[in-house]
Amino acid sequence: MIVKPRIRGFVCITAHPKGCEAKVGKEIAVAQAAKKDGGPKKVLVIGSSTGYGLSSRIVSAFSHDAATLGVFFERPSQNGKPASAGWYNSVAFEKAAHEAGLYAKSINGDAFSDEIKNRAIETIKADLGQVDLVVYSLASPRRTDPKTGETHRSVLKPIGQNFTNRSLDTDKDAVCEVSIDPASEEEITDTVKVMGGEDWELWMDALDQAGVLAPGAKSVAYSYIGPELTWPVYTNGTIGQAKKDVERAAAAISEKHDCQALVAINKAVVTQASSAIPVVPLYISILFKVMKARGTHEDCIEQMVRLFNKRLYGDDAQLDSEGRIRVDDWEMEADVQQAVAAIWPEISSETLLEKSDYIGYQENFLTLFGFGLEGVDYGEDVDVELDLPSAGF
Ligand code: NAD
Repeated sequence: MIVKPRIRGFVCITAHPKGCEAKVGKEIAVAQAAKKDGGPKKVLVIGSSTGYGLSSRIVSAFSHDAATLGVFFERPSQNGKPASAGWYNSVAFEKAAHEAGLYAKSINGDAFSDEIKNRAIETIKADLGQVDLVVYSLASPRRTDPKTGETHRSVLKPIGQNFTNRSLDTDKDAVCEVSIDPASEEEITDTVKVMGGEDWELWMDALDQAGVLAPGAKSVAYSYIGPELTWPVYTNGTIGQAKKDVERAAAAISEKHDCQALVAINKAVVTQASSAIPVVPLYISILFKVMKARGTHEDCIEQMVRLFNKRLYGDDAQLDSEGRIRVDDWEMEADVQQAVAAIWPEISSETLLEKSDYIGYQENFLTLFGFGLEGVDYGEDVDVELDLPSAGF
C-alpha cells in the first residue's frame, strides 16, 4: 500500500516501513562512526523501539558490537494496516544487526508484567548467560501493577496550583495558551506508580534472582530537568515526582545488587513521549533554533553516543551533586537558556516561524513515523506486513 502520514493531535497513526528503516539506518551510521572499545557486551534494553531506548540499543550494537535483547510494546500490522513506528524500527534494527553478525532478539509485550520479565530472563539464560548493562527507557501512560492487578494512569499536571503558559497547537500551527489544573493526591501517586522507579527495581530484582545479571553490571534510567519555565508542568509536577522516585530507585538498586544503577539526565528531544507534554514542544522548537545556531544541536542518537562513550564507558562521567549523569549540559548552558528565555515572551503565532525552529520540530516529528526521509519513495507501494526477523524464537 501507499502509506501517508495521518496525524491526530500529537500522534501520527500511520508509519512508513521504509522510512523507519531509513531513519534507523541513519542512526546506525552515527553509531558506527563512534566505535569504541571497553563498552557493554550484552545489553537488555527495556523500551527499545523508539526514542532514547532505540538509540541506546543502536549505540550498544553498532558502537560497541554488543548483543542486544530489546523489550517494547508495539503494534504489528493488522488487517493490512501499517504497524506502529516502533515495530518497523525494531524490524529494521534486527535486520541490520543480524547482517552485521550481531545477536539481536526482541520481546513485544507489557514490560510491567511478570510474564514479559520471565520471557526476558529465559531468553537471556538460553542465549546470553548474563547481561552487563540494563537500560530502562520506558515512557508509558499506564501501568498494571502485577501484584494487585490494578491499572494506574499517569498525568502531566502541576502540583499545588494551576499552571498557565504558552504551548503549541500543532493542528493549527499556532501558539496557544494552556491552563492545567493541579493534580489530585491520587493522580500524583498514580503517576509515580507508572513512571517512578518501582518497575525498574522489580526488573533488577528478577534479573539478579535468576542469576542473569553479571557481577558489576551497570543499569541506567533516563530523566529530564529542563528550564524553569517548564518546571511547573515537569520537574515540579507529577512527572517530576515520578522522576524523583526513579532517583530513589537507582540508589536502592545499587545498594541491593552488585550493580551500579544510575540516572542520566538527557536533553529535550522530539519523541512520541515528549510531544504529549504541554509547553515542552514550544520550548523544544525555540531550543532547536538556538542550539542549531550554536552548532550544539543533538538528537537521541548523538545524546546516546555521548552518554555511552564519554559518560558511562568513558572518562568524563560528569556526575552532578546528586550523583546523576548529565548529558543535558549543552542544553542547560547559561547563554543557551538566556537566549531561549529572551525569545519566550516574544513568541506568538505570527512570530513562530521566525523566532523558533518549528519547521525543524515538525520535520523531526514526522521522521519519528518514517516520513520525510531522504531517498525514500513515498509514492511507492510498500509491504506493510513485516515480521520481526527474530520472531518465533
Ligand atoms: P518514547 O515514547 O520514544 O519510547 C518509549 C518506549 O517505551 C518505547 O520503546 C515503547 O514501546 C516502550 N513502552 C511503553 N510502554 C511499554 C510497556 N508497557 N511495555 C513495554 N514497553 C513499553 O519515549 P522517550 O522520550 O524515548 O522516553 C524514554 C525515557 O527517556 C523516559 O524515561 C523519558 O522520561 C526520558 N527522557 C525523555 C526526554 C525527551 O525529551 N523525550 C528527555 C529526557 C529524558
